Amino acid sequence: MSGVNHRLIERVVRQALARCLADSGRPVNEPSAFPGELFVSPEVRGIKEEIVRVGKKLWAREYVDGNGGNISCRVSPHYVVCTPTLCSKADIREEDLSLVTLDNHRVIGEREHTSEIRLHLEIYKAVPAARAVVHCHPPHATAYAITGQVPPGEIVPEVEVFVGPVALAPYETPGTTAFAETILPYVRRHNTMLLANHGIVCWADTVTHAEWYVEVVETYCRTILLASMLGKPLKKIPKKKVAELLKIKQTLGLADARLPVQKEAAKFQAQTSVEAPEEMSAPQGSRAVDEEKFDALVAGITEQVIGFLNQRS
Ligand SMILES: [Zn+2]
Repeated sequence: MSGVNHRLIERVVRQALARCLADSGRPVNEPSAFPGELFVSPEVRGIKEEIVRVGKKLWAREYVDGNGGNISCRVSPHYVVCTPTLCSKADIREEDLSLVTLDNHRVIGEREHTSEIRLHLEIYKAVPAARAVVHCHPPHATAYAITGQVPPGEIVPEVEVFVGPVALAPYETPGTTAFAETILPYVRRHNTMLLANHGIVCWADTVTHAEWYVEVVETYCRTILLASMLGKPLKKIPKKKVAELLKIKQTLGLADARLPVQKEAAKFQAQTSVEAPEEMSAPQGSRAVDEEKFDALVAGITEQVIGFLNQRS
């Protein structure tokens, strides 16, 4: 067995198999049919630059620390570009990013991708209009999250238009499926969710806009905390004026818990043919069987490759 690296071969087989499965049954002229081409296309290279830029911004604004936070962008109906695990967002490079499928198989990328990708993937599967997701731990928003509160609404117009009521998802262990699923009751009508005892997650049409929503909420939480120390009650915007803000919001096609689910989302879904949300609720058992079959296939092919290499040596 000298010279044969079992783990390396298994990894190559796993990636090749995931690629084949991801592309099977799709027309070859579809832009996303070949993930290798997609990953180096001008559009995706631009998105990778944007992810790196936004990562540095999160770190500079002290919204992340250590290796915390993660960023992703859906670049086709089937593929998502995301940041790696164990990497400071200040140091992130384009070559550190991965391409993963919506069912969380890494098809391109040398580095292990973020374990919190499950949270991002649940958002993409539930909200067709979500093209980018940013998760981080900004201190003032997290202060609300660790006290089980959301900031009061109807106080600052920009917050009403771009975010609206902020949701609070219950606590679960980060990186797990249970954690990823905590946002499901809120995600269709809230582009911004606090995560109890953890941080915040925002979705938008671009990575830049998802980061803007983080900024809007973090600054708002800080402003409310400061205003609360001034010894006067917080003044609300009159209800009639809030209605005017909601009209502006409707024209922008932004999600808001006070508005019906946007038609824009349905339009995007038709354009991209992303899987319908119902697919997300497939029985957990059937998913587990698929994973088992996939792992068995990887193990079988790996053994055959190693057997072949041993015969030759
Ligand atoms: Zn986190």
